[in-house]
Amino acid sequence: MKRNRLWGELIHLFYPNVCVVCGNELLPGEEGVCLQCLYKLPKTHNFNEPDNDLEKLMAGRIPFERIASYAVYAKGGTLPPLIHHLKYRHKQAIGLLLGRMFGKDLMESEFLDSIDLIVPVPLHPKREKFRGYNQAEIIAKGLSDITSLPLSTNNLVRIIYNPTQTKRTKTERWENVKDIFKVTDPLLFQQKHLLLVDDVITTGSTLEACGIALQACKGVKISIATLGEVF
Ligand SMILES: [Zn+2]
Repeated sequence: MKRNRLWGELIHLFYPNVCVVCGNELLPGEEGVCLQCLYKLPKTHNFNEPDNDLEKLMAGRIPFERIASYAVYAKGGTLPPLIHHLKYRHKQAIGLLLGRMFGKDLMESEFLDSIDLIVPVPLHPKREKFRGYNQAEIIAKGLSDITSLPLSTNNLVRIIYNPTQTKRTKTERWENVKDIFKVTDPLLFQQKHLLLVDDVITTGSTLEACGIALQACKGVKISIATLGEVF
């Protein structure tokens, strides 16, 4: 016992429990990010705004009902370090927390009213195994926790592993993603209104590719929610 406590103190000395955005020490109850940084998130509130920028971005590419993002993903802003730690530093608690906060806001609008199922954008199994989890699924779990909407994580699947897209052009990204998703059992999503969930929307080509794969399900409706939007 004594040795464990000493070890804990040593670990804390070298790796203090600090906010991933501002570096200040976290208070009891705070996980990964401090409350002050959470308050500073540049929330979009675009779920209250039909025909918002994201809906304009995706218009004519896939049929959809509504699209919303939680906050603006701006360089040097509050959201990028949160997403970075969620994706690459195993801070799943951050994704869960932001998913719950987003869900709480969405519940105060009509955005979720006809949603049947929450569907996170899947990673290829190889990438998920490497990372240990799917960040979109963690966010979706937070949304599901707070809204009590069921989660579907194994019917929309990624069948082609593709390398990181960071440095590709818009056309190259599209070529890269257009046939990489598949619905395992289209009957499960038939006549359902799905909420597709991802971490950040940039060009929208990944979500477009999911939307195309989902057209295999008769009568399916699609809405989209992402934590961040890049413009
Ligand atoms: Zn902070």
